Amino acid sequence: MSATNEQWRVRVDPTRCIGSGICAGTAPGHFVLVSGLSRPLAERVAPDDALVDAADSCPMEAIIVSEADGPRRIAPEP
Ligand code: SF4
Repeated sequence: MSATNEQWRVRVDPTRCIGSGICAGTAPGHFVLVSGLSRPLAERVAPDDALVDAADSCPMEAIIVSEADGPRRIAPEP
């Protein structure tokens, strides 16, 4: 698979999220708050630096961005 076909998987751990809304502010195209918890708008997405920023900004490290089809974690830094 070439780099242009790469997809990322986005997850929010609901047991860690405190509903700060930072991710929805940092990457409004990727996260929405539902009943006080963040939820990814889509689980499989094209690579987007805004996702890395959101994962790095989450105070609870609740956001995990990884390769969609592999084990490599993209953000936050392992
Ligand atoms: S930044 Fe983290 S804690 Fe805040 S709403 Fe998003 S996932 Fe939840």
